[in-house]
Amino acid sequence: MTYTNSSLVNHKRLSPNHSGLRNHVIDTITIHCVVGQCSVEALGSLFADPDRGASSNYGVGYDGRIGLYVEEKNRSWCSSSSSNDNRAVTIEVASDMTEPLAVTDAAYKSLIKLVADICKRNGIKKLVWSTNRNERMNHLNGCNMTVHRDYANKSCPGTWLYDRHGQIAAEVNKLLGAADQKQNSGNAAKVQQGGKVPDVYYQVHTAGGKWLPNVKNVDDFAGLENKPIDCIKANLSTGHIRYRVHIIGGKWLPWVTDREDYAGLYGQQIDCVQMELSGLSGYDVEYRVSTAKSAAYLPWVRGWNSTNDEGYAGIYGVAFDKLQIRIVKK
Ligand SMILES: [Zn+2]
Repeated sequence: MTYTNSSLVNHKRLSPNHSGLRNHVIDTITIHCVVGQCSVEALGSLFADPDRGASSNYGVGYDGRIGLYVEEKNRSWCSSSSSNDNRAVTIEVASDMTEPLAVTDAAYKSLIKLVADICKRNGIKKLVWSTNRNERMNHLNGCNMTVHRDYANKSCPGTWLYDRHGQIAAEVNKLLGAADQKQNSGNAAKVQQGGKVPDVYYQVHTAGGKWLPNVKNVDDFAGLENKPIDCIKANLSTGHIRYRVHIIGGKWLPWVTDREDYAGLYGQQIDCVQMELSGLSGYDVEYRVSTAKSAAYLPWVRGWNSTNDEGYAGIYGVAFDKLQIRIVKK
């Protein structure tokens, strides 16, 4: 996928303090507090200094203006964690210098818009916060908001912003149109078990290769780095999944249900896939692929007849090497 930057940016001053291209798709948001009611220009000056060795992807000034310092495609130096900064878009927000390190109304409003914009462009359908540190750090139960204090002996993002993370998620999700705005808590695992979301099992065949092992949900991905895929098989723990694939330079092959067959033709690389559920109300299938040319995934696609995602995962004419499928509540 191609990374983009927010069009909401008012001030751009790219910092030399970053690690180059990120090694993980963007799936997390990390909000920080500056500890100072500064402007986006002042923050840009700080990050322009190589000796500071610090940066963030974006900053929000006290007046609500937005700065871009490290392009989204690159890994910023912000959260004292390489793995976090590789997958997160980091945002510094101007704040008071004393606890609770509050931010202005203007900055807060801009932050909500910026986060929603980042989620939309990167295929994050819903923001999930957890007050449980373990859930945050291990991205459990869908948690995709992390905080600096988990990785370093710091109070960042400060009491004011930390206490509002659930509210931030709810406000962003409203802009994203995410159906369920309930925030996660420490017992979210129980809720999920009670919901009994069906499991999906799937495997792929690499062109000129063999069938790879089954993958359950998003425990892993199906595929091998840089090995184009030619066939797919999938089934659910309950209910049915239908899917079909498109051959590069060819056409859509017939729909296949569960493992009655496989979708694809041996030796013919595929570029796009469509999926839908049947016999299962209240759930949807989401799937995404990563093209063989890039480590990053294209956005998640839900179902196959949705209008917003063009209804298929993939890019016509471009082989993909990784597939992920998950079942979600409607
Ligand atoms: Zn921080």
